[in-house]
Amino acid sequence: MAIPDVSERVTGVPPLLEVQGVTLQYRTRQHVVTATYRVSFDVYRSDRYVMLGPSGCGKSTLLKAIGGYVAPVEGRILLGGAPTRLPGPDRVFVFQDFEQLLPWKTVCDNIVFALTAAGRWTPREARQRALHYIDKVNLTEFAHSYPHTLSGGMKQRVAIARGLAMDPQVLLMDEPFAALDALTRARMQEELLRLWDEARFTVLFVTHSIAEAVRVGQRILLLTPHPGQVRAELDSTGEDVVGVDGVPLSARIEDLLFGGSVRTGGAAHD
Ligand code: ADP
Ligand code: MG
Repeated sequence: MAIPDVSERVTGVPPLLEVQGVTLQYRTRQHVVTATYRVSFDVYRSDRYVMLGPSGCGKSTLLKAIGGYVAPVEGRILLGGAPTRLPGPDRVFVFQDFEQLLPWKTVCDNIVFALTAAGRWTPREARQRALHYIDKVNLTEFAHSYPHTLSGGMKQRVAIARGLAMDPQVLLMDEPFAALDALTRARMQEELLRLWDEARFTVLFVTHSIAEAVRVGQRILLLTPHPGQVRAELDSTGEDVVGVDGVPLSARIEDLLFGGSVRTGGAAHD
């Protein structure tokens, strides 16, 4: 299958993010929960990389590990060739939760606060940057509004604007549109694609929706249920393309996730 044009995947440049044989566990007093088992994948600069799998398969835990909040018990995670042992502003999260903004700060001040905390921008630069990204997500009219006056979709747009303004190496999006109604969700997917088209940032996007994975992803990693293991890795053009076998991509994904047995030994490349 053809690989989308812009990816460094085809140019021989090393991956931006390398997840190598990563096993993640939670230890409670009674027992050990294995969230992911020996998961490996590479994300290249400017990828729209999607992790898709059922609830509980370890997607959020993987993102937390990439964020530097959870240490692998096995394997390693490299960003730009260096281990991601601690959190840092080079990895910024956007969550599903509508309450990820500070309620006592305006839209603009939420972003300025994150930017000045990161320490890379002066207050004046931070303000200019904040207003620029607020405009990018079409919220200029609401720049000085407080979060509680915004809809869920608008709050998510602020969180995305803040994430992009931080200029991270990789934007980590954990089911960012899962709590939105279907129409808003579809609109947010299109907005994200439009923003990506302008700025070509690297995004690692988690979802449990096959349709969303197909729409948003250039590359889709399929994870099996608990503990999460790599089932396959596929390309997407953004459309639910019918393959040479006459099967639409979404149906193929469904079959891979729910129809067969686990393929071991890493990703299957199609
Ligand atoms: P997903 O995001 O794919 O829904 P998670 O990464 O949230 O999955 O969870 C993966 C597994 O780890 C699940 O079985 C979940 O119950 C378990 N888990 C998640 N967080 C904790 C925690 N803090 N303590 C113990 N187990 C946890
Ligand atoms: Mg999750």
